[in-house]
Amino acid sequence: MDISYIINELAEDRENYFNAIAPPIVQSSNFAFKSVDEMRNAFADEYSTYLYSRGLNPTVDILRKKLAALDNAEDCLVFNSGAAAIFAAVLANVKSGDHIVSVNKPYTWAQKMFKDILPRFGVTTSYIDGRDIENFERAILPNTTVIYLESPNSWDYAIQDLKAVAELAKAENIVTIIDNSYCTPIYQKPIDFGIDLTLQSATKYIGGHSDTVAGVLSGSKKMITRIFNSEYMNIGSGISPFNAWLLIRGLRTLPMRLERITQTTEVILQYLKQHQKVEAVLFPFDESFSQYELARRQMKGACGLLTFIIKADTVGQIEKFCNNLQHILMAVSWGGHESLIIPKCAGLPAAHFNPLNKEHRMLRLYIGLEEPDYLIKDLAQAFEII
Ligand SMILES: *Cc1c(COP(=O)(O)O)cnc(C)c1O
Repeated sequence: MDISYIINELAEDRENYFNAIAPPIVQSSNFAFKSVDEMRNAFADEYSTYLYSRGLNPTVDILRKKLAALDNAEDCLVFNSGAAAIFAAVLANVKSGDHIVSVNKPYTWAQKMFKDILPRFGVTTSYIDGRDIENFERAILPNTTVIYLESPNSWDYAIQDLKAVAELAKAENIVTIIDNSYCTPIYQKPIDFGIDLTLQSATKYIGGHSDTVAGVLSGSKKMITRIFNSEYMNIGSGISPFNAWLLIRGLRTLPMRLERITQTTEVILQYLKQHQKVEAVLFPFDESFSQYELARRQMKGACGLLTFIIKADTVGQIEKFCNNLQHILMAVSWGGHESLIIPKCAGLPAAHFNPLNKEHRMLRLYIGLEEPDYLIKDLAQAFEII
């Protein structure tokens, strides 16, 4: 399907709403029936009728059809956070006594689920370095039901060979789930490599304006229907019609925002690489990246997020650098219009800072829609101060 068609036309039956260009926000919790028979049919199969907006909603459906098409998936569900999409995807595929193989350091709340929630129900998780396929083979146990991936990782950009992992998992009857937030379906379509379920935080690039929290989960019709009728309805964490409308709006400009961010990221990357106060830069599409070839093979693009290791002897120098940025904001998240920075040292007590540990000197930069020179000037003056 043509991407322009998906973004501008797919699922928009404008004759049904006054030929309005922008879709309506159907802000209704419930839907009426003309006969008992119609109501009975809806009760029997809520996934085929508008009954109650915790289930299906017409505005959300427009968004779902577009997002599933972008993922090359048969179907998808949209949640009111990426974390809810992660939770539903995993919960739907484990039972007491099962085992999960996860890549190292997935998204924080995936880690918390594996560590704090699932063990209460007898589900255990092993972490592996997903850069080597043999680590998956070694970690799989007879009771492994899920392989959890995040490629690239959103701090160190570690990548998994998606095709190889999908083949291995299929042979062992294991469900594969990937967090595809970094790439979005524009730059990587995991379903095409044989991955079962792909999810992303739509808070990031899909929303694109730092004003909505949402998550997408895509997969086969069979799997998504099962999740709808169980975890989705029970967790009750579906996206609201208004937030769905904001995401449809975000989608209109997604490809051009990514294109722009990709160009600017390349400029900033080159600036940082030559800077004397920068020890190293991590970015999947940089030739020095340890998995550069695999990144090029399975990703159509990389953008926005990069990590650099600053030369510093004290935590105070890093703090000074960040505190003195005038335009780049210090905040979590990414994917919006505004450039952002997070120093790794903000996650540890200042007294624990060890300059010999490169991780402690990592700064993650997100490149937004500003002019490249504007960002470089901001970085340059902050480097000057330290
Ligand atoms: C932000 C993020 C999430 C969680 O998404 P929310 O919308 O914040 O719940 C999951 N994975 C990655 C990689 C993220 O960056």
